[in-house]
This record gives sequence, structure tokens and C-alpha cells, in this order.
Amino acid sequence: MSLAGKVVIVTGASSGIGAATAEAFAKQGSKVVLTGRNQANLKSTEAACKTANSNVELLVIAADVTTDAEKIIKTTIDKFGQLDVLVNNAGMGKWGSILDIDVDQFDLVMNTNLRSVFLLTKYAAPHLVKTQGSIVNVSSVAGLRSFEGISVYCTSKAALDQFTRCIALDLAPKNVRVNAVNPGVIVTEFHKRLGFSDEEDAKFLEHSKTTHALGRVGEPNEVADAIIFLASDSSSFITGATLPIDGGRHAMCPR
Ligand code: NDP
Repeated sequence: MSLAGKVVIVTGASSGIGAATAEAFAKQGSKVVLTGRNQANLKSTEAACKTANSNVELLVIAADVTTDAEKIIKTTIDKFGQLDVLVNNAGMGKWGSILDIDVDQFDLVMNTNLRSVFLLTKYAAPHLVKTQGSIVNVSSVAGLRSFEGISVYCTSKAALDQFTRCIALDLAPKNVRVNAVNPGVIVTEFHKRLGFSDEEDAKFLEHSKTTHALGRVGEPNEVADAIIFLASDSSSFITGATLPIDGGRHAMCPR
């Protein structure tokens, strides 16, 4: 996949899709920068990467993407001297219809899912131009389709898709590719962090089998595999794409 020796930043590497993605890059022989806020979880990902590849070079940066974007890029360059791939994965959501969601929730979701990606991309871009690298953004099927009661999350991911396409055009003349993946329901901590109890989460995952054409939900490694593809030379003629990794959910309409 030509990712050996490449320097890769994965935001939100402390859990779920980001942890699986970090491990997948470690297996490819990449030098992986693991960022997130939860230091204990970052340690677990670090251990998993070392199990995947005992020679892997890692850098752990405990950081909040809403405030530390410049630090994440600078610390990476100070350590490795270059940047080849930026995976903007960190993200979160908040339930709430327009009748009850407040502006603080709007700001938190947009700052985490969109503004941080703008800042990380801005600080990373000059380094990616030097290496002719690439960016993969982790969006959602919620960027492609609308869901009630979670409008700000859907809006943040739709904006992220448009940002992906626009920045792909900005950076194409420099041979830097920019793409996104749009996962369907994937088994991670995401829905519990949205406020689901264990029982509600289990019920939601069971129900989700009916909302995905393949009749099941996805696993983090299935998204990680697509991220590896989009970051590698195997996708050398793909830029500005938003790729659903959703068991066909985006193609479905209620009957
Ligand atoms: P998890 O909740 O398991 O992981 C979320 C990750 O984002 C954690 O590593 C968390 O780090 C990090 N994160 C959140 N906010 C911040 C912040 N302010 N600063 C730094 N890191 C932050 O969920 P997933 O793995 O599922 O989510 C990863 C991405 O996938 C998100 O962008 C999500 O929107 C997207 N997605 C997920 C789907 C799903 O069904 N799971 C479906 C579609 C898209 P920490 O815990 O260290 O704070």
C-alpha cells in the first residue's frame, strides 16, 4: 500500500474508529501520531499498535482538537520532520431537536467536527504539499442523509463533506489528495457518548440491522480499511470523494 515509513496523524486515536485506524497504519509500517484527550485510552491504542507491529514508531499527543490543532501539527513536525497523512477522525454529537438544543451545544459540535478540521488542515497543508501527502476526513452517513433530533451533527458532517471537496480542489494543483469516508452505524463508544445506556445502545444496534441494506452494523476495522485505501497510492486518482462505508444505508429509502 506504499504507506511504510509515512508519517500519519490520527485524531481521536483513543477510541473506536480512530484506534482501529491507528492500528491499521501501524501494520502498514507507518509512523503513527496518536492524539486524543483520554490518556489511558491512548495508552491502550499505543499497546495495540505495538502488538500489530513491534517496530512501529509512535508519538502520543494528549490534546483537544478544539484548542490544540497547531500544537498537534508542530509536535509532529518537531519529532518526525514531515507529515504525509492527516486523518481527521475525532468527532462527537449531541441529541436535540431545534426546539430544545441550545447555542452552546451547537458551538461544541461545530467546533469539534468542523472548526478543528479547518484548523488542523490549515496547519498541516504546507507540510502535506512538501510530501504530496493526503487527508482523509471521517464524516458520516449523517452528512449524506437527514435524521431527526440530531440536526447539528448532521449539519457538521454535511459541511465536512463540502469542506472535503473544496479543499480537494484547493490542493489538487499541489498533488495533495483530500477525501472523506461516511460510515453508517459502527460499533464504538459513540452512541453511549451520545447518552445511550448499555441497554439502549444494544437495542439501537439491533434495530440498526434493519436500517442497513447488508442487514448488520459495521466494525471499526471496516472503516479503517477504507481510510488506509484512501491514504495510499492505491487511490492515486481519487480526490474530493465522500465514500459511504455503511452497508448500503445511504442508498435506502423507507417503504
Ligand atoms: P468514539 O466515541 O469511540 O471515538 C470518538 C473519538 O473522538 C475519541 O477518540 C475521542 O477522544 C475523540 N474526540 C472527541 N472530541 C474530541 C476533542 N475535543 N479533542 C480530541 N479528541 C476528541 O466514536 P467513533 O470512533 O465512532 O467516532 C469516530 C468518528 O466517526 C467521529 O467523527 C464520528 O462522528 C464518526 N462516525 C461514527 C459512527 C458510528 O456509528 N460509530 C458513524 C458515522 C460517523 P477522547 O475520548 O480521548 O476524548
